[in-house]
Amino acid sequence: MTHDIHIIGGGLAGSEAAWQLAQRGFRVKLSEMRGSGEMTPAHQTDGLAELVCSNSFRSDDDTKNAVGLLHHEMRRLDSIVMRAGEVARVPAGSAMAVDRDVFSAEVQRTLYEHPNVSVVRERVDALPADGPAIVATGPLTAQSLAESIVGATGQDRLAFFDAIAPIVHRDSIDMSKCWIQSRWNKRTEASNEDGDYINCPMTKEQYLAFHRGLIEGDKTEFKEWEADTPYFDGCMPIEVMAARGVETLRYGPMKGVGLDNPYDTSEEHPQGRWPYAVVQLRQDNKLGTLWNMVGFQTKLKYGAQVELFRTIPGLENAEFARLGGLHRNTFINSPLVLDRQLRLKNGERIRFAGQITGCEGYVESSAVGLMAGLMAAAELGGREWTAPPRTTAFGALLAHITGDAEASTFQPMNVNFGLFPPLHDVGKKVRKKAYTNRAKEDFGEWLGAMEAVPA
Ligand SMILES: Cc1cc2nc3c(=O)[nH]c(=O)nc-3n(C[C@H](O)[C@H](O)[C@H](O)COP(=O)(O)OP(=O)(O)OC[C@H]3O[C@@H](n4cnc5c(N)ncnc54)[C@H](O)[C@@H]3O)c2cc1C
Repeated sequence: MTHDIHIIGGGLAGSEAAWQLAQRGFRVKLSEMRGSGEMTPAHQTDGLAELVCSNSFRSDDDTKNAVGLLHHEMRRLDSIVMRAGEVARVPAGSAMAVDRDVFSAEVQRTLYEHPNVSVVRERVDALPADGPAIVATGPLTAQSLAESIVGATGQDRLAFFDAIAPIVHRDSIDMSKCWIQSRWNKRTEASNEDGDYINCPMTKEQYLAFHRGLIEGDKTEFKEWEADTPYFDGCMPIEVMAARGVETLRYGPMKGVGLDNPYDTSEEHPQGRWPYAVVQLRQDNKLGTLWNMVGFQTKLKYGAQVELFRTIPGLENAEFARLGGLHRNTFINSPLVLDRQLRLKNGERIRFAGQITGCEGYVESSAVGLMAGLMAAAELGGREWTAPPRTTAFGALLAHITGDAEASTFQPMNVNFGLFPPLHDVGKKVRKKAYTNRAKEDFGEWLGAMEAVPA
């Protein structure tokens, strides 16, 4: 073998993983299908690490922003994405934005010039039969390889669409208007003591106004290539359901039966104190800091979502960890199929990295690529890998995709403070600063210990 590890996909995650491994002395074969006559529906060039849409790595503020903190941690690990980002940087206030062509050219030049990296322009159609590998083929993984991944993980473990219901920070929900209860008080062994859902009740007037808002709200159109992607029926947008009739939602995700509204103090309750309609939220992470709006996947534009969803009783001041969406995105159900080191549970030679693991965004994909590179380097060097603490942005993101997220509702996620162990006793105004201070301190300690035993 002429290489120590095979990386498939020369996007953000694959390039970052290749760099981290090569810098530690390992020989990398990096296979990228663009440049061999193949293209994804979103990429425009053959360049490594092409940014397919916006040119922004979002906030660069590492004192009170989770993605800024991720930048900080990546810089401390000499990330190629952050390095090239500095070379290509264009003015964007407190955000980090880049000239996309300069950025991609810089990543490409650095990797082509590296003596330990060999870039091969080829489409890989199956998971490698032997040797260590990292699969970093992104949200638009070629179909043949996607089929091979399905063969290794199971049909229902690979999704082709993000069908994202909005996710709300628990501490922004006004619990003086909603209550916790499961429908018919049904319980399972895993249930919380009081019930598993936060219920936001609506009167008839509120429901009708909300229904109108769904119908009239500004929507994003499907791109042509997305409309042809399979598996769409299973994730119908809430506004499409609303358009089928004014009652459809009241027999679907907004039905009130079996939920006794404790705020309904009227005398007459022939059927129990069921609300006319209800919006339910279900816990989305083990920490209990994030809750998703059940059945609310949507193509409404972000501004329209915030405006409309804040009319829901209890969500007037809701802060969204992510808004709803529906678009083409190939990703595996990582909490089920990957171990804590991003390896296939049933085939440990193969690691996954980048957006295909269920993180979301340029920076997150690069960060997961960086971690996959470090993990693989530790393994190839025969060293023990210690995961970064969960209080750090790396640790929080990694814990989320490899086990902390709820597998049954797993959807790609940006880094956000809802993924960090909560700091309940710190005032809201200084909480973000406290998260970043804690993270930096813990990251420094982890890095010190890791550098003491280099891979
Ligand atoms: C249309 C679209 C727009 C997006 N816009 C943004 C945005 O504005 N901001 C943001 O932060 N995030 C955005 N994202 C999300 C995401 O962060 C990016 O897609 C990001 O590039 C993911 O990084 P990655 O390395 O995982 O995948 P990619 O950067 O897509 O890299 C994967 C690489 O693998 C290659 N490949 C695929 N299959 C094979 C194969 N079988 N053999 C060999 N090579 C293969 C591809 O050609 C590609 O170069 C967007 C995603 C999509 C789909």
